Amino acid sequence: MKKRCTHCILSEHFPGVSYDSEGVCSFCRDKSFLQTEENAIQKAQEQVDELLKTVKAQSNTYDAVMLYSGGKDSTYTLYQAVKKYGLKVLSFTLDNGYIPNQTFDNIVKITDKLGVDNLIFRPSKENMKAIVKASALYPIYNKRTMVRISSVCNSCISMVNTQALRIALEKNISIILAGFTLGQIPVNSIIYKNNYTFLEESRAKSNSLLRKYTGEWLDTYYNLPTSLVKNTVEWPTMVNLLCLEKLSEEEIVAAISTLGWTAPKNVDGCSSNCQLNTFNNVIHEKVYGYNPYELELSHMIRKGLIDRETAISKVETMDPELFKSIADDLQISEDEIGNAGSLYKTGK
Ligand SMILES: [Zn+2]
Repeated sequence: MKKRCTHCILSEHFPGVSYDSEGVCSFCRDKSFLQTEENAIQKAQEQVDELLKTVKAQSNTYDAVMLYSGGKDSTYTLYQAVKKYGLKVLSFTLDNGYIPNQTFDNIVKITDKLGVDNLIFRPSKENMKAIVKASALYPIYNKRTMVRISSVCNSCISMVNTQALRIALEKNISIILAGFTLGQIPVNSIIYKNNYTFLEESRAKSNSLLRKYTGEWLDTYYNLPTSLVKNTVEWPTMVNLLCLEKLSEEEIVAAISTLGWTAPKNVDGCSSNCQLNTFNNVIHEKVYGYNPYELELSHMIRKGLIDRETAISKVETMDPELFKSIADDLQISEDEIGNAGSLYKTGK
């Protein structure tokens, strides 16, 4: 059995973790953390309120474009955006080819119920598989990023972010909404102005690696057209509304169930919208020695939003058969997976 913090679920290979004589980790011992976070949330709430007031007064066709995966968190965020904040939202879904049918049913049901338009973008299966394979097998991203997210998830989310930014610019939309939670993103990312120059610079290395292992076509998904960048005066603001709430998974699910949302069955305990997640988690565990959801779930434990046993059951129930069927479909062998681990360790 894995050694974990006796209070949260951070395991021994998690970067920077150490345990005291009672087995409590260094992160749980930092008592000032939650208060600092509370203050930052309050400040972010004021900024969000101010921004929404300004944007709603402009009366554009859409106030915001929302990254809508159909999972529980983004469904709740969409619900909140429409019902609590009264925003006119254009929802946007990336179909990566691994979305369960139940999730598609949820997307249709929820957007219909909330009276929200939905756009779906589906990259070709061949290109998507090449991106997944390269992200899983090669050290594309720096280790610091991988503390919060698996490599493949990061590639998907970068693509979603780029495409949503493109939609926002083309349609003159000032806000991009996402359903990330604290633990998935740092507290200073609840609300921030998009800075494409910075984004391009920070992703230059990972994009060039990803391009090297896939093809020149990659830029279609990860870059904005030059003319669009040149003509942009005002960049949209990213807002993560769910970070402003303090809700347990049960409370979120109870609220969205009233809209007709149903949990898909064929996904792991860490996802409510993507089958690929199991594959990503197993690879991450093999390469780094810990599950990419440990940080988020541990954060929820410290805030009293989930109990430790439930959190452990979420990270320790990856279906080996689902993993194998995805690996086979991607034509990835056991040897290649083993080799990926050593590539990461040597940093090549
Ligand atoms: Zn801990």
